Amino acid sequence: MRKVIVVGGGFAGVAAATALAEKGVQVDLLESRGSLGGRVYSTDNPSFPAPFDNGPHLLMGCYHETWKLLKRLGAPDTFHKIDPLNLSWLCPGGQKVSLQCAPLPAPLHLVWGLLTTNAFSWKEKVSLTKALLLFSKKPFSLNPEIKTVAQLLDFTHQGPQARERFWIPLCNAVMNVPVEMAPLAGFGEVLHRVFFGSRKDSSLVVAGKPLSDIGFKQTPAYLKKQDGAVHFHEGVQSFKVSKDSFEVLTRLGNTYTGDALIWAVPPSSLSALWPSDGWEKIKTLPQLGKSPIISVHLILSRSLFSEQLAGLSGGRFEWVFNRNANWGWKGGGQYLSLVASAAEPLAKQTEKELVDLAVKELKTRLPTSVTFEVLHAKATREMAATFIWTEETDRLRLSTETPYPHVRLAGDWTATGLPATIEGACLSGHTAAQKTWEHLNQTP
Ligand SMILES: Cc1cc2nc3c(=O)[nH]c(=O)nc-3n(C[C@H](O)[C@H](O)[C@H](O)COP(=O)(O)OP(=O)(O)OC[C@H]3O[C@@H](n4cnc5c(N)ncnc54)[C@H](O)[C@@H]3O)c2cc1C
Repeated sequence: MRKVIVVGGGFAGVAAATALAEKGVQVDLLESRGSLGGRVYSTDNPSFPAPFDNGPHLLMGCYHETWKLLKRLGAPDTFHKIDPLNLSWLCPGGQKVSLQCAPLPAPLHLVWGLLTTNAFSWKEKVSLTKALLLFSKKPFSLNPEIKTVAQLLDFTHQGPQARERFWIPLCNAVMNVPVEMAPLAGFGEVLHRVFFGSRKDSSLVVAGKPLSDIGFKQTPAYLKKQDGAVHFHEGVQSFKVSKDSFEVLTRLGNTYTGDALIWAVPPSSLSALWPSDGWEKIKTLPQLGKSPIISVHLILSRSLFSEQLAGLSGGRFEWVFNRNANWGWKGGGQYLSLVASAAEPLAKQTEKELVDLAVKELKTRLPTSVTFEVLHAKATREMAATFIWTEETDRLRLSTETPYPHVRLAGDWTATGLPATIEGACLSGHTAAQKTWEHLNQTP
């Protein structure tokens, strides 16, 4: 039986490991922490009376590689799929506007939604629709001088409501960089996948449980079926590689080798571990940078809304997730998690300042008659939530290939054409697994 070592147990590593096990390969998955999921996790803290995510994650119907992975693992369907797409925004002054798509085939569902929404003026609906249509077919017919999302918004005359409710929160959420920096080609790929596939592709998907409970627990048993295993607390600390062999040594002092190796760790870890073998590109990975995501979790004295999530129009926190609806939380009052992506400007604020800002943004978007007490509050800060994807850093993203055919790369930062998301991570893991499988079949 062929044996593959996968290092890193985030979505990319789990996707790669289980895809190979599915083909009958023995896989040892090495993870430095005591659990799988990488940047997708929830935690408990005595200062807060409920579990909280490191940051609420929003998935989409078009996350096909992700659904493939969760189906493979037999993970129970613990997600709320908002299909047809339906979203409300809480606006300053207490007004609530919404986009409600129709149960029609795509793109008619969206056309209906845009025709009937009260979130944008008629003029803005027309310019928004025209801009979206630029991404309906590939290759996108774009002016080559338009490089960033901000340039697109100016070029297509997007109005303030469309920017505030649609373009900016969507770009922040999927790219985790501001519109001024986000490369248009990458954002366009997302728009194409979300709005011009099937109707279900554009559904918003929210986990029905805290993130640590959404499917990783099945992974050890899945690998064991092929005599593989997940090895926790096995952080790799050194790596030797030659033309046809490799060896990784872990902090616990164990050595692992096999027929092939897949690295599925963040770029700066990989760069530090790679031996000095003249592969210059690997040393430039730290230049991919780090973009933060900040969340504030609040338990309030009274219920404010019943939807799964809502947008905060014009807020620094873009989305508010309703944990009573998401997880069936019944601890009394309302449990909300607010999230701010592309959050570099907030990164240095204290927890109190973040909580105060979140509460203020919420209060100013509710009718003045609605009052509430904050019973519990907690902020989570992920300073390296994603790499910084810009035109300049795009060239630093590496493909799955390395100078060694038996060593592959995976991770949301690799050159998938997608932003650093769960879907990008799963796509990279499945690609690395497929290439590794081809390599195993070509070698005796
Ligand atoms: C707060 C926050 C909110 C987000 N929101 C969204 C969202 O709404 N939608 C979305 O799709 N995506 C979102 N993302 C991005 C998404 O979480 C990531 O793109 C995805 O989880 C990356 O997976 P990965 O496997 O590539 O990397 P990681 O999850 O980072 O996995 C790498 C793994 O490697 C391990 N590791 C590192 N070094 C070693 C070593 N030397 N030896 C062994 N193991 C090692 C790590 O412990 C980790 O488990 C968000 C991220 C954050 C932080």
